[in-house]
Amino acid sequence: MMSNSNNSSDRPDELDANALFHKYDLDGDGVVSRKDMNESLQSIATQNRVSLSKDKIGAMTDAIFYSANGDRNNSSSTNSTLSFSDWNQLTKNALTRTESYIVSEKDETPKTALRQAINYIISYRQQIIWLSIFFAFQIVLFGIGIDRYNRELTTSPYPFDRLTMVALSFGLIIQVNVGILLLGPALRWTSGHLRRTFLARLLPFDSMVSFHIILACTTLFCGAMHVILFLTHFYYVSLDEATISRNLTLNVILTKSGILGSGYLGFAAISGWILIACFTIMAFFSIPPIRNSVFYDVFYWSHKLQFVIWAALIVHTSTFWKFLVFPLSVLFLEKLHKYWNAFRWQGTTRIIQVNLLPTNVTQLVIKRPKDFKYNPGDYVFLKVPCLGVLSWHPFTLSSCPEQSDVLWFHIKATGNWTRELREHFERQETPSVQMHPQVEEPHDELQMQPIVPTLRHIPNLNVRVLLDGPYGASTTALFDTEHAVLIGAGIGVTPFASVLGSVLAQYRDVTSGNSIRSDYRNTAMRINQRQLKLKKLDFFWISREQENVQWFIDLLEGWERQQSELPSNALFMDCQLYITSLPSKKDCKVAGLSLGMKAHLEVHKKDVITGLRTATKTGRPNWPSVFSRIDHTKQGAVRVFYCGPHNLERELRLLSGQHKFQFSWENF
Ligand SMILES: Cc1cc2nc3c(=O)[nH]c(=O)nc-3n(C[C@H](O)[C@H](O)[C@H](O)COP(=O)(O)OP(=O)(O)OC[C@H]3O[C@@H](n4cnc5c(N)ncnc54)[C@H](O)[C@@H]3O)c2cc1C
Repeated sequence: MMSNSNNSSDRPDELDANALFHKYDLDGDGVVSRKDMNESLQSIATQNRVSLSKDKIGAMTDAIFYSANGDRNNSSSTNSTLSFSDWNQLTKNALTRTESYIVSEKDETPKTALRQAINYIISYRQQIIWLSIFFAFQIVLFGIGIDRYNRELTTSPYPFDRLTMVALSFGLIIQVNVGILLLGPALRWTSGHLRRTFLARLLPFDSMVSFHIILACTTLFCGAMHVILFLTHFYYVSLDEATISRNLTLNVILTKSGILGSGYLGFAAISGWILIACFTIMAFFSIPPIRNSVFYDVFYWSHKLQFVIWAALIVHTSTFWKFLVFPLSVLFLEKLHKYWNAFRWQGTTRIIQVNLLPTNVTQLVIKRPKDFKYNPGDYVFLKVPCLGVLSWHPFTLSSCPEQSDVLWFHIKATGNWTRELREHFERQETPSVQMHPQVEEPHDELQMQPIVPTLRHIPNLNVRVLLDGPYGASTTALFDTEHAVLIGAGIGVTPFASVLGSVLAQYRDVTSGNSIRSDYRNTAMRINQRQLKLKKLDFFWISREQENVQWFIDLLEGWERQQSELPSNALFMDCQLYITSLPSKKDCKVAGLSLGMKAHLEVHKKDVITGLRTATKTGRPNWPSVFSRIDHTKQGAVRVFYCGPHNLERELRLLSGQHKFQFSWENF
């Protein structure tokens, strides 16, 4: 059953209006005065680390009284107080008044284990299908190996030679898999282009890294079986004194006397030991605690052992080169493309400005090379030679293709290189400059952070930077979608900032009659044509700290301006900001704060936290409700694009499956 915005689920849980009223009536005189409210709001803000200046708290208090009294004249009276019945009315109505959600009262989450299993299969259907195909392929390869080596060994008088038949079949799988492993995440340019073709609907590009890991694990398993079976075989051979010396095992292991024959076979054992060493080192340094930590570089460089593996496999078996030729050729072309770009833009790419944004985010402004074409949401590998000649790091372009002169990157300091980048520019910082007209000074006794911290920028830079890219990411499919839902968590907002910027720029071009600069016309026109399909765009940004909104404040303000210019029936973009560190409005202890925020928005037409016209939502989104609302208001086929950490991915993917939405995920 559908309900409108006056849904009881929006009210604070177990709200006991009477008890709450007495909490706010600090002097116990039976009414909540302006002073009571002001002090209560200040103490809630301090306790919950909500960054609000004294003026803002004053404005919220005024707005609450204005809402209660119903007219501005009353609110200006310094004597105004709230009686219990005023308070009761406020908490009953005001906490739900500005919500425009249509939420489903019925919990649509699948209840039974069977329905949950079906939903799981639907949500992960593409991965399940490809995994099944992959394992079927491995079994077929194994069968081919058994058949082939069985025929070769039928003449052998020794029954234990059958072990080598199985070992060699595992070996065949290893040869093929090592070739396929090359076609994984390393082929960024190729996969970026394939994402723009019909193959995007068939192949699981978003799960490429997961498939790479599964393929690598299967290869390791086959490698282990290959080694165990061969060693067992050698052991049995060495027991057979009648046929061969007891020292055979040692001889074979050390390849002492070419027992396995001449040529490459003479090196089979020694190259086998090299392969075992390389695979073990690579596997060990690829485990998540190393790969996802500050030791990422160790993981990266240990993967270079792949060159040794190819060489050792060529020596180990006469057939491996056949499985290497095609993937290696594609990789070679990729590298050629990369170095051609680096050569083409050599010297033309410079960091010309840096903005040091709140919560350790550094915005790089880079001069855009003349022929640098990209699509919204694409990413690039950056190298800043003054921070290290070997370090390339991937970052999404947060600017949009319509910005003709510059490229933007928003970089969160999370590890060694990104921290070094921030510190490098902090050292070059001259006394701080206030960038934004809305910047306010902190001026309260509580010594809280300012709502809009001072933004620092370093102009007129000329720092050399190298670009490798652009490469297409999951957002490539966005303009082929009818109803797109963009969900960015934290710094995962960058691809969507680019998309929103592009949509805004195109809107401005159309309305102002500007022609797009010829250099960028092709890309932009392609987007324009495809965009016809896009009917609705819902944008969610989930952020921990309230200061993060400053990363893209200009973009969000631009979006709001555009919304205000459009007739209401032409609105096609909906924006929702969630600050998870702020207490949820369902927390009755902070009901006054929620009341104040909503009243402020109604009275001043501005959110008290961000200064935007969009209401900031506090706490975490109720995703089942959000997805139900989208389902009931959808305009065509829905596709959810999520960029953020893994823990939210599962919930969003399952909800997408439940509502039959397509789902794409990108993880930084
Ligand atoms: C396609 C893509 C787009 C990205 N876009 C952005 C963005 O717009 N803004 C942003 O702040 N971050 C982005 N990242 C993440 C960013 O690349 C890493 O935070 C950064 O490389 C960390 O480097 P570090 O030396 O500071 O951290 P480290 O201490 O070396 O490692 C921290 C973590 O970052 C990851 N990482 C480190 N180096 C690399 C690398 N070369 N390739 C892939 N992952 C790496 C690893 O998971 C590692 O565990 C993106 C990542 C990818 C894969």
